[in-house]
Amino acid sequence: MNQFTEPAAVFPSLPADGPPGFHLLAKPSGSTCNIDCTYCFFLSKEALYPNEKSRMSEATLDAYIRQLLESHRVPQVTVAWQGGEPTLMKLEFFKHAVELVEKYRKPGQTVQHTFQTNGILLNDDWCAFFKEHNFLVGLSVDGPRELHDTYRVDRRQQGTFDKVMQGWRALKRHDVDFNILCTVNAANQHHGREVYRFFRDELGAKWVQFIPIIERATEQTIDLANLGWSEQAGKKRLLYTQTGNLVTARSVGGKQYGQFLIDVFEEWVRHDVGEVFVQIFDVTLEAFFGRHLLCIHAPTCGYGPALEYNGDLYSCDHFVEPKYLLGNIHETHMLKLVASPEQRKFGEAKRDTLTAQCQSCKVRNWCNGGCPKDRFALSRDGEPGQNYLCPGLELFFMHVGPTFNVMAQLLKQGHAPADVMETIAALDEQRGPYRPCDCGSGKKFRFCHGDSAPASKFSGVNPGAAAPQAEQARS
Ligand code: SF4
Ligand code: SF4
Repeated sequence: MNQFTEPAAVFPSLPADGPPGFHLLAKPSGSTCNIDCTYCFFLSKEALYPNEKSRMSEATLDAYIRQLLESHRVPQVTVAWQGGEPTLMKLEFFKHAVELVEKYRKPGQTVQHTFQTNGILLNDDWCAFFKEHNFLVGLSVDGPRELHDTYRVDRRQQGTFDKVMQGWRALKRHDVDFNILCTVNAANQHHGREVYRFFRDELGAKWVQFIPIIERATEQTIDLANLGWSEQAGKKRLLYTQTGNLVTARSVGGKQYGQFLIDVFEEWVRHDVGEVFVQIFDVTLEAFFGRHLLCIHAPTCGYGPALEYNGDLYSCDHFVEPKYLLGNIHETHMLKLVASPEQRKFGEAKRDTLTAQCQSCKVRNWCNGGCPKDRFALSRDGEPGQNYLCPGLELFFMHVGPTFNVMAQLLKQGHAPADVMETIAALDEQRGPYRPCDCGSGKKFRFCHGDSAPASKFSGVNPGAAAPQAEQARS
């Protein structure tokens, strides 16, 4: 028996029926951040730990790394850092974390380090360290300057684009693997293709992830919520919780989220299959093989707990609120908390609370009702608990389903999914350039996702320069 296969055999006090692996997100500086994005309700979580400086101690870091490695029965373990802003912990902290991983890593275990950052503090020292230890760095960018700077602002309400681009340049200089994490919000929701092209052509991104911004509020909290989640002079700070069926003005529209993804898809499927990896597209393709890469579209969830700086473990990063506190790793081993009946119930509720509309939905196998945090709308029959994004999710999965089906068949027959691009090119040729575009914009194909699409009206990496078109950038 390998040491990594049975934690309960090595540590008899640990539950034998715990999950073989899980993806814990650690927040070493809690929700503290060095910028002040207007939509970031995580900022409000500082209210959970008032009067404390949120910094993970040596003892908590040691307990976290040791317990995480002890808990895994699968050989691959991810050590994932995020925030708030983890660079606030300084580089020495992470150097020590890597040493601890080496100290506690069991024979046969391999560890992937991931690090989600706003990029502001990244420099040569950070990036040399990331490269040396093969970190995968997630960089938060919401698109070209004008779109990014709408909500991703500093404490003086100034856009952060230039500073983030300095961080991106440092990542590039050191050839660090990076993934772009882009929120889809009210400012960029109508610009999917331009946002995607910016990442691909200007930032050279190979991995891209889109996250919908949905900030819930009630009749009582909506006015304050619309102001943002940071400290407001003279006003009592709100603690964001997943309650209310209203959304702030910054939130993406339900249907528009799907339209945004379709806009990206129609570009990707013509040029980039096998070259650029967009998380939601990978998730959709893998579902054909019964694999669920992302909790949001898996039948059940509960394998993505969040660890606060002081050792408190919560059910999920989106439910860091008192009701979902599982316990503290200084008092109870994290595997016991992750395998606890409460956490199991949390994860199974995702499947057990599906509305009748979801249960009979044609795209259920891909969508699985989406994330429970977003289920605050009414279904078509008036049943509560429908996903706010449902109109967009349904639109997206119905739109892309046939193409991913072709890709899945190609894979099953031993071909590359990228071969689908030849089929799409042949279809485009056959149907001609002046038909309505497949994305549903109502524009002619040639001037939308075809070869005469207008250049982006947004600024790129170089101040004042418009983003080049994809074809120009690649030539
Ligand atoms: S609540 Fe949502 S984000 Fe959290 S684990 Fe479940 S599906 Fe994932
Ligand atoms: S598309 Fe809508 S109805 Fe279908 S599974 Fe998803 S949330 Fe449910």
